[in-house]
Amino acid sequence: MRRSAHFLAVISMVMLSVMPVFSASWKQCNGTPVSPKYQPMGISWDLCSMPEGSPQLRAFFSALYEVRHYVNALGFGAGFQRIHNGRCLIEHDNDRSDVAVVNRSDIDGRLGLTMTETDGCNFSWEEERIITADVMIASDLDFQRADESTVITRAPAGTKIGALVMLHEVGHALGLDHSNGFAVMRDGLGARAPFVGMTPGSGGLSSELTGDDVLGISRIYGYDPRYRNLFVSSQLLRNGSLVNNNIDPTNGDNIHPDPLLVCPGDRINFYATVGNDSSTRENTQVAVYADADPNAYYFPTSGALAVFNLSLGRGEHSFPVQFTVPASMPPNLTQNVFVSIPSTNPFDRKGYDNAARSRLRIRRKPGC
Ligand SMILES: [Zn+2]
Repeated sequence: MRRSAHFLAVISMVMLSVMPVFSASWKQCNGTPVSPKYQPMGISWDLCSMPEGSPQLRAFFSALYEVRHYVNALGFGAGFQRIHNGRCLIEHDNDRSDVAVVNRSDIDGRLGLTMTETDGCNFSWEEERIITADVMIASDLDFQRADESTVITRAPAGTKIGALVMLHEVGHALGLDHSNGFAVMRDGLGARAPFVGMTPGSGGLSSELTGDDVLGISRIYGYDPRYRNLFVSSQLLRNGSLVNNNIDPTNGDNIHPDPLLVCPGDRINFYATVGNDSSTRENTQVAVYADADPNAYYFPTSGALAVFNLSLGRGEHSFPVQFTVPASMPPNLTQNVFVSIPSTNPFDRKGYDNAARSRLRIRRKPGC
């Protein structure tokens, strides 16, 4: 790990308190949330469209492990394979929940589709339960690890959004509906999707449930998950839209140039986002640092550009941050700006989502 930029620390200790907005929703029948009838509901995977060892299958296992951090309503089924005339076959209404990768045209041009079969909601005294859920994901998506510094605004073929769509669809199998919040369950790509910073090589795919999603789970299943996790993201909600955090709150939220040319002493403004998945109020430090290495994920013990103390309840917490360009800023070197929290918080279950690279990059202006 390179740590090329050991700037002089500019430490400001601020206790921030911000109110998140929740908009998680879930399916209901007569006021009762709809969830799988027999839990855990095992989901089997199509080894024809998602072969052993493929990134598609890894995305599915990652999504299932992720939801099982919070609720045991879904479980592992088995691999299956049916091939007819050289084509992968998947079937619905066969009393089994399946996940498969399919042609986008087979799911009406969507990125993903989850077909749930329920026992119905016909009478006012009834509860409705999910019997099976078949999850289908468009085959032209890229299932490799995504870049957390870039908010996805649309999904052309190849966009690294496969793992996020997989998690979103598995969320539907849980009973979650769409959200306008900072959530994996945001509806479609017109509404954009958040990525979470994840250390390369950690196995994380930059896609995980957020506090808004977990709130929905707690409402469906009637308990509050004990799994506590903080994460860092390079996106934030502004007026209901998800945007990258390389915008200037002191200049109408305009996007900074790339790279932003700076001189020592300049004050640079952008946003930091830290998320809390649990309802437990957490306290943590937050650091801003710069590094020429785009994969320099760490918590700076020295050389931070800014350090904050943050106390945060459940949800996504975005706030303006400012740092001063230090005199030690090297010339001729473009540096990535990161936001991170320490990996030593004992309650924090996932260490690999504690640093995120912003799309904001800075470079020393020649002659200053
Ligand atoms: Zn959806």
